[in-house]
Amino acid sequence: MNRVFGNDGFWRFVRPCCFPGRVPEKLRLFIIATFCLSLLALNCQADVEKDYKSERERMVVEQIEARGIHDQMVLWATRKVQRHQFVPEGLRKTAYEDTALPIGEGQTISQPYIVALMTEVIKPHPDMKVLEIGTGSGYQAAVLAELCKSVYTIELVEILGKRARQILTRLYKNVHVRIGDSYRGWPEVAPFDAILVTCAPTKVPQPLMDQLKEGGRMVIPVGESGVQALCVLTKKNKRLKQQAIIPVLFVPMVNQKGKKY
Ligand code: SAH
Repeated sequence: MNRVFGNDGFWRFVRPCCFPGRVPEKLRLFIIATFCLSLLALNCQADVEKDYKSERERMVVEQIEARGIHDQMVLWATRKVQRHQFVPEGLRKTAYEDTALPIGEGQTISQPYIVALMTEVIKPHPDMKVLEIGTGSGYQAAVLAELCKSVYTIELVEILGKRARQILTRLYKNVHVRIGDSYRGWPEVAPFDAILVTCAPTKVPQPLMDQLKEGGRMVIPVGESGVQALCVLTKKNKRLKQQAIIPVLFVPMVNQKGKKY
């Protein structure tokens, strides 16, 4: 230590640029401490990124693949999208846990498995134009953006919509975020190859059924709070066939006044 603190040869490099006389002991100590702390901070940052990558891998293997999601593109997208970027900073360490998480304004980011399941159900493809109802954190839209040609997503709560738009437009060119009530869909760009709804109405909104292309698929949680079923609707010969797949728990689809649809 004395070699560094006491060796004037070393401090002669520092002196000409910032200190006119002999560099005092306390200042030497301060410079060394600052340097060491910066190195430590850089190291921690790298560790955190590395950990998230392994957490993400574990999430895909243990929560998604293990429950029967086998679409290779869906697995690839969930491995790629950094879920921790879409949750509030204080919750980043829990971003890859097997659960939904609060994102503010009483809303949630869906559980990773549910995001993967809903994505697999619509059979994503690079030619598809998809409508998402309930942008929330923007995570589901990001997964879709990795797999589809274009994603149109609508969020009712302005603060969430703006936050999601900021991160999504920074990461993707093929995502369009609209703020407002999505009950009527997005008629100007309809019809859609697929519609993915991430808030639960008590029955499927007619405008969304109308905006689904022939041969298209809609995945939607339907029902009262506590008794919802995740349903898949397929359109053939202008008729919709509805099939319930699993029981789920989503936030309700509401209008601007908070009234449930
Ligand atoms: N897909 C989201 C999860 C969203 S949670 C994600 O990946 O994080 C459901 C969202 O639907 C909430 O943000 C809620 O504000 C929104 N929502 C509820 N009713 C809505 C409506 N009528 N139109 C648009 N968004 C609505």
